[in-house]
Amino acid sequence: MLLALISIIGYLMSILSTVVIVQFILSLLIAFNVVSLSNNIVSSIWQALNVILDPFLRPIRKILPDTGMIDFSPFVAKTGRSPGLAVVLVGEDPASQVYVGSKKKATVEAGMESFEHKLSASVSQDELIALVETLNADPAVDGILVQLPLPAHMDDKAVIAAIDPAKDVDGFHVVNAGRLAVGEDAFVPCTPLGCLMLLKDHMGDLSGKNAVVIGRSNIVGKPMAQLLLAENCTVTIAHSRTQDLPDVVRRADIVVAAVGRAEMVTGDWLKPGAVVIDVGINRLAPADGQSKGRLVGDVAFDDALRHAGAITPVPGGVGPMTIACLLRNTLVAAHRRAGITVPEGI
Ligand code: NAP
Repeated sequence: MLLALISIIGYLMSILSTVVIVQFILSLLIAFNVVSLSNNIVSSIWQALNVILDPFLRPIRKILPDTGMIDFSPFVAKTGRSPGLAVVLVGEDPASQVYVGSKKKATVEAGMESFEHKLSASVSQDELIALVETLNADPAVDGILVQLPLPAHMDDKAVIAAIDPAKDVDGFHVVNAGRLAVGEDAFVPCTPLGCLMLLKDHMGDLSGKNAVVIGRSNIVGKPMAQLLLAENCTVTIAHSRTQDLPDVVRRADIVVAAVGRAEMVTGDWLKPGAVVIDVGINRLAPADGQSKGRLVGDVAFDDALRHAGAITPVPGGVGPMTIACLLRNTLVAAHRRAGITVPEGI
């Protein structure tokens, strides 16, 4: 009897180890784009393997150290696919090409599907909107990002309005902007969301702090101010017509600079100990013998360091947070669309 039990357990263990090996090989094939989860057969095999392994992996996941990676295996097990982000690039703008490349790389590294659509600068607005509508209807696509700026013959607002708000992971659609403004759950634009995460991580409770946001664009300044207001900050939004800007900034515990003017904010504008988030990305003229100028923010970093309590660098500060928040929004969109609880901690 005991021998029979041992041989059954041994038999089950050998099946399980085969499943683990097959899943490992399949995950490598997917990672190196040899096969894709958008293929029905691959997707069915992947789903079946996850269903078998999930009960065994659950206790193991609990004892593994938290590496900061978000576990979306329940999503994969239920849907048979990874969350998918579609990025649309129109034209050849070099900065946009770099941004789209970084977003694609991060998406793939996080184990998600990346769908890249590169269109020529001469494409019509109707053709671009037709592509957005196709992506809206594509079940493998959870998030849609149309890289801005668009060529001059297009109306950014009309194109953004064509994106399904449930897939608007950039948070630019008026439905999401409106939800944010009235304090409802919304997809929040990635850059201000990343700035808020940095601030909360560093300062904890922001309640009662004086915050000055320099810049009032729809993609950074305005949503940033809404987020800080929701955290009970006293918020001032400054812009190109603000009078005596240094004096306004000097009252702030938190300064968010989103202007697009190289090193405009200097150290003497800052209250001692202020926390500074530098959103700006500006390229200086090339120094002698260099082909490219240095990237700097809207804040004169070295000068500001002498006064600020903390400051984000450019590059390497807000930029990576923007990409992280894009992936976060895509995961949230994917889970909501599939009716699965959004993983904790994102
Ligand atoms: P934008 O649409 O050009 O808005 C700039 C804002 O700055 C406007 O509200 C403008 O005021 C204000 N402004 C201009 N000159 C000013 C001055 N002298 N004093 C005070 N305010 C002034 O730019 P954006 O899209 O918000 O981007 C801002 C910067 O952030 C850019 O450098 C951009 O490259 C960077 N960015 C970085 C990321 C990232 O991931 N790190 C993401 C997005 C943007 P008016 O409204 O009165 O014209």
